[in-house]
Amino acid sequence: MQGSALIRDLSRQAFRSALARSARRLDEAELRRPAMVFAPHPDDETLGCGGTILLKRRLDVPVRIVFVTDGSGSHPELLPPEELSKLRAREALEASKLLGVDTSRVHLLGFPDRYLLEHREEAISRVVALLEAHRPEQLFVPYAAGENPDHGSTCLIVHEALRRVNRPVTVLEYAVWSWRYWPNVRRDGALWDPRTWVRNTASTVRGLVRSSAFRTCVNVHEVLAGKRAALARHTSQLERRHGDPRWVTLRDVDGGEFLECFFDGFEFYRRIDFNPRPIS
Ligand SMILES: [Zn+2]
Repeated sequence: MQGSALIRDLSRQAFRSALARSARRLDEAELRRPAMVFAPHPDDETLGCGGTILLKRRLDVPVRIVFVTDGSGSHPELLPPEELSKLRAREALEASKLLGVDTSRVHLLGFPDRYLLEHREEAISRVVALLEAHRPEQLFVPYAAGENPDHGSTCLIVHEALRRVNRPVTVLEYAVWSWRYWPNVRRDGALWDPRTWVRNTASTVRGLVRSSAFRTCVNVHEVLAGKRAALARHTSQLERRHGDPRWVTLRDVDGGEFLECFFDGFEFYRRIDFNPRPIS
């Protein structure tokens, strides 16, 4: 291992274990609360909270997964959106099954990937209907800041639905793309270039400030193998289709370091206890 990679690796371990030490663990009583997981794209449920879902299902706690978009935007130049959306729906159901969530508890809303915000009102109504029909006590929702636009839109849509439903619920927000800063992943570009240095330093500072919001965590060490197995079912995101070198996968992001952010044994959440406003 090169010197800079070793320093990054040690810094990352120190940072992640400091984050875990300072975060409050979700205890068993909270793990036993029925949950609904919102995934902007198929794979976010496993990356962000797959270990927590597995632990809940071990306790036989009801969990539903809502896939908000159809995932058809991941490789639009290489596969027609209709094909990609069918493929990703199949993968979503297979991964959910490995997480212990039966197909009857999976909801594929099918909004077009990358264009969720254009369907905001319809999406809010669909989420309101789900919250009213199933009355989950905990919601797992993507974190908005520094994320892909569909992640931000999903967060906004669920919070607006919750405001309309007006019931007490705990929201646990999980990050995906916003973990991409040093020391979680390598720095890009030439280290000696001042502009690169400024950009990387700004990204690290922003990341560290945001990470201070993630004060709740779940120790998922004992279910990491199951989490990896579930993620592997999202084959279109993990393997090059027919070996095509143009087919980019999650393993390519930051030389694989990004993917490892989700397998170090803890899942972190920003917790919001939503209390209904009084009806006047
Ligand atoms: Zn996503």
